Amino acid sequence: THFGFEPVSEAEKKEKVQQVFDNVALKYDIMNDFMTLGIHRLWKDSLLRLMKPYPGTRLLDVAGGTGDIAFLFLDYIYSQREIQMRRELKSWQNLSWLEISKSYQETGQDLLGGSHAVICDINQKMMAFGEKKARQLGYTKGLSWVVGNAEELPFFDDNFDIYTVGFGIRNMTNIKQALQEAYRVLKPGGRFLCLEFSQVNNPLISSFQVIPVLGEVIVGDWKSYQYLVESIRLFPAQEEFKAMIEDAGFMKVNYHNLASGIAAIHSGFKL
Ligand code: SAM
Repeated sequence: THFGFEPVSEAEKKEKVQQVFDNVALKYDIMNDFMTLGIHRLWKDSLLRLMKPYPGTRLLDVAGGTGDIAFLFLDYIYSQREIQMRRELKSWQNLSWLEISKSYQETGQDLLGGSHAVICDINQKMMAFGEKKARQLGYTKGLSWVVGNAEELPFFDDNFDIYTVGFGIRNMTNIKQALQEAYRVLKPGGRFLCLEFSQVNNPLISSFQVIPVLGEVIVGDWKSYQYLVESIRLFPAQEEFKAMIEDAGFMKVNYHNLASGIAAIHSGFKL
């Protein structure tokens, strides 16, 4: 079957990934919280703490799905801005952030300092849900949504300060090509950051078998989840993935394990 241990062709994998995310788009966020007990949020926070974006940063979030990483990026920029502004203007010390941002915007200046996040995903349905969520949460500025394939990005060379991919690269048909594309679109000095399920050393917590069961309960789609679990199992371990990132040309590549390696963040620079 396509979901078992037999190899699948590139075209089959692409179609399967599209189908999986079409099936889960609307329930993706709920399922994500449930499957990871909400821990994916902490992991995404760790990604942002490592990234430390500054006002003016241009981020490309590939396989961005429903936009979580881009939203956190904007939150981070706003909080940096708040700290900076409170420091600069002592008279604002006792004002709320809402009051500060209002008076700042009245001066016609951009609170984000030119920061921008582009969310790029191959699946229109995931992004449509994300755009709706962005409106509900009040993210009106600093975001663009672009349909595109990570293996053939629709962007110019040397375009972004940071490239992120969160729980997306293991679904890609040609990971090597996706890494080369990441390298191409980053500016010199730009940073690659990848958050992905990884390999756990501790056998007691590597039981991913429960995930398809939860997938079935929540979205009623056992096969989709079995496929995702299988993709986690087949994804290269930390050191092997690090070597692949280096092969694409990145320097100073390293990784941080999260929760004993259930997930890991790999980082590299285009120097
Ligand atoms: N980054 C989001 C997050 O962390 O919540 C979404 C992750 S979701 C598990 C994986 C996403 O990867 C899906 O939205 C899927 O459409 C996207 N995807 C899979 N293959 C892709 C490709 N070749 N290019 C771009 N996006 C892809």
